[in-house]
Amino acid sequence: MLQLKDIRKTFGQNEVLKGVNFAVYKGEVVVILGPSGSGKSTLLRTMNFLEVPSSGDMFLEGESMLYREQNGNKIKRDPKEWNQFRMEIGMVFQGFHLFPHMTVLENIIEGPVHVRKQAKEEAITYGESLLKKVGLSDKRDAHPFSLSGGQQQRVAIARSLAMRPKIVLFDEPTSALDPELVGEVLSVMKELKEEGLTMVVVTHEMGFAQDAADRIVFMDDGNIIHEAPPEQFFGKNQPDRVQKFLQRYE
Ligand code: ADP
Ligand code: MG
Repeated sequence: MLQLKDIRKTFGQNEVLKGVNFAVYKGEVVVILGPSGSGKSTLLRTMNFLEVPSSGDMFLEGESMLYREQNGNKIKRDPKEWNQFRMEIGMVFQGFHLFPHMTVLENIIEGPVHVRKQAKEEAITYGESLLKKVGLSDKRDAHPFSLSGGQQQRVAIARSLAMRPKIVLFDEPTSALDPELVGEVLSVMKELKEEGLTMVVVTHEMGFAQDAADRIVFMDDGNIIHEAPPEQFFGKNQPDRVQKFLQRYE
């Protein structure tokens, strides 16, 4: 579904991504673990063009998102061309990022109507079905400030799904929540996995990683240094760096 080849990202003198190779297959849930500052957010943000890689290439269903062919030459795409790919790649942030002046349903139909140019009625019908899926049908006309953090994050998930993305990226979706609200968001995410949604999830929720990941990728200092299915990742004989990281969660 999505592939990154030798992705580097430099901020000033600081190389934050040091040649990352990464792939997510259709229907797969990949969890990214790693210490703070290892480049997890930068990697996700790069996949969604919130950061532009300094070098390397990224492919959506085999098509380069950064370059196109012209008369046999590889030329950089105009940033306007990124939008067609960005629409296919949803993102859910730690801090929800809902539009505060809009109702829940207005938040959800904004992208489909204004970016996808979908008919409003159609967007409303689909938006309502997504609200039902995340258990918030009764909050359709509420404003974000009247909702709990867990409810806001479930709206943010519904909003990202409203664009019918091919893949959704989650950057620590439960890190800003009170502990008692974490479960309701994780259970929505597990349901999406059951439905076959392709997801990349940065999280510190080891239980979720163990239950929901098809594959766990470990980042350290700007690179992926280990990857394994969860039973193996949390089993014996991990690399020292991974073992040291996991000890903090025991
Ligand atoms: P993580 O999400 O794993 O905690 P980040 O991707 O947020 O890591 O950050 C990795 C490194 O990149 C950190 O050293 C951080 O300070 C740096 N960094 C991230 N974003 C920027 C930016 N916009 N400008 C400069 N440095 C940045
Ligand atoms: Mg981060």
